[in-house]
Amino acid sequence: MKRGAPERLIDENGRRVDGRLPDEMRPLRVEAGVLKNADGSAYVELGNNKVLAAVYGPREPMPRHEALPDRAILKCRYSMLPFSVAERKSPQPSRREIELSKVIREALAPAVFLNEYPRTSIEVYIHILEADGGTRTASIIAGSVALADAGIAMRDLVAAIAVGKIGNVLVLDINGIEDQYGDGDMPIAMMPQRGEITLLQADGVFTPQEIEEALRLAQKAFQKIYAEQVRALKTKYESVKEVEE
Ligand code: ADP
Repeated sequence: MKRGAPERLIDENGRRVDGRLPDEMRPLRVEAGVLKNADGSAYVELGNNKVLAAVYGPREPMPRHEALPDRAILKCRYSMLPFSVAERKSPQPSRREIELSKVIREALAPAVFLNEYPRTSIEVYIHILEADGGTRTASIIAGSVALADAGIAMRDLVAAIAVGKIGNVLVLDINGIEDQYGDGDMPIAMMPQRGEITLLQADGVFTPQEIEEALRLAQKAFQKIYAEQVRALKTKYESVKEVEE
C-alpha cells in the first residue's frame, strides 16, 4: 500500500471513504450570476470542490490581431488559488494549469455558437477556491453555466463528471483521496441534450467493457448535473425578472 493511503478505499459494505456507494456522486450545488462586474458567472460546489467561473465577452480581442474573420475565439484560464490545497500552491501558472485550461476550453467550445460572434473573443476565467479531486469537471460545469449566464448563444450546456477505478470496481465522481490512491480516473464531459461527448480522458487502464460501463455510470450523473445547471440559471433569471417588474 502507498504511504499515507487509507487502509481501504472501499469497505466490506461496499462504501467508499466518504460513505458513498460506487454509483453515487457527491452533492452538487450550482449558482448562476454571482458576480456583478463580469458578463456572466457561476459558482459550483461539488463535494468539497469550490469553483468560481467568470465570463467576459463577446468583446474585441486583446491583442486585436488574434481576431478571426468568421468566428469568436474562446479563451479559458484555469487557476488554482494558493489556498485551494493543503500546502500553499505557488500562484505561478503550473504546467498542469496550462494543460487544464486547454482541456476545459476544448470541452466547452463545441457548445458555443462561435460563428455567431466573428472578430470577438469570449473569455472564461476559472478559479479553484478549494480542490478535492474533479476540479476540471466542476470547472466545465461552472464554465458552461457562466457562458449561458453571459447570454452567449449555445447549442447546449456541458455537464461533466469523472469515473474512477478502485481495484476493478468503477466509482462515480472520484474525490481527492480516491484520485490519489485509486487505479484510474476517467473525466468525461457531455452536452446532455445532444448526447455528444466533448471530453474523454483516461488515466489508468480501462478495458473496453469498463469504458462502456463508465459511460453508463456517467450518463446518470449528467442528467442530475444538467437539471442543477438549468435550475441555477432559472433561479437567476427569475430574480432578474422580479427586480424588473
Ligand atoms: P482534477 O482536479 O480534475 O481531478 P487532477 O487529477 O490533476 O485534476 O488533480 C486531482 C486532485 O489533486 C485535485 O483536484 C486536487 O485535489 C489535487 N491537486 C492538484 N494539484 C495539486 C497541488 N499542486 N497541490 C496539492 N493538491 C493538488
